[in-house]
Amino acid sequence: MGIPVIGCDCEVCQSTNPCNKRLRSSVLLTIDGKKILIDCGPDYRFQALQYDIRTLDGLILTHSHYDHTAGVDELRVYVMRNKQPIPCLLGHETLRDLEQRFYYLFNTDDKSDVLKAKFDLQILKDKRGMTEFLGIKILYTSFEQAGMRVNGFRFGNLAYISDIRKFDEIIYEDLKGLDTLIISALRFTPSHLHFSIDEAVAFIQRCGAKKGWLMHISHEVEHLHANAYLPENIRMAYDGLEISFSPGEF
Ligand SMILES: [Zn+2]
Ligand SMILES: [Zn+2]
Repeated sequence: MGIPVIGCDCEVCQSTNPCNKRLRSSVLLTIDGKKILIDCGPDYRFQALQYDIRTLDGLILTHSHYDHTAGVDELRVYVMRNKQPIPCLLGHETLRDLEQRFYYLFNTDDKSDVLKAKFDLQILKDKRGMTEFLGIKILYTSFEQAGMRVNGFRFGNLAYISDIRKFDEIIYEDLKGLDTLIISALRFTPSHLHFSIDEAVAFIQRCGAKKGWLMHISHEVEHLHANAYLPENIRMAYDGLEISFSPGEF
């Protein structure tokens, strides 16, 4: 929902600590000078202005839910400026949904609409594997959130796993030997859609990642309070956080 939640007077929504102000989860990667956005939620225009994202070389989508895709139409500004479509990496199930949610952007059957030239689609058909996107080696894996397939991505020693709830044990193979694991956790109490904070901690530790960052946090979690609770190698992510990583290492 983003924090503050509309009309909420709770302690976190009223907090003046900037770390308690959370726009919808998204990450911008810079690899070999190329800028790749993972997920593009309803806050994208504001995020692009705030962090001065003037160019974009590629878009990766984890799944089709509103909080991860509602901003895709905002990317038209880059298409208009560069006069070429944005390469977009996504799973075939995500595409199937987006063909309905954004029929005028993603429906590959109807060629009549000029707006469709906005995305150059690279579709992942398997549940997991290796691919190359913009010449960059990417490991992709998948898991489930309430019956929906979601993709996670690994770039060398860093992985981004959002909206994970149900998964196969094989994912631990895909995420072995990471320096950094960025993963969603909603709140302390259980949820049928997301890991709780304890579940995310257990997952990070089982993967053996040196460092874990929790994101996709609800207003039930106060930033400093959660950081005091977490083990030393796991921290709460926050808007504007920057992390260095080595995309070439596998
Ligand atoms: Zn609140
Ligand atoms: Zn989400």
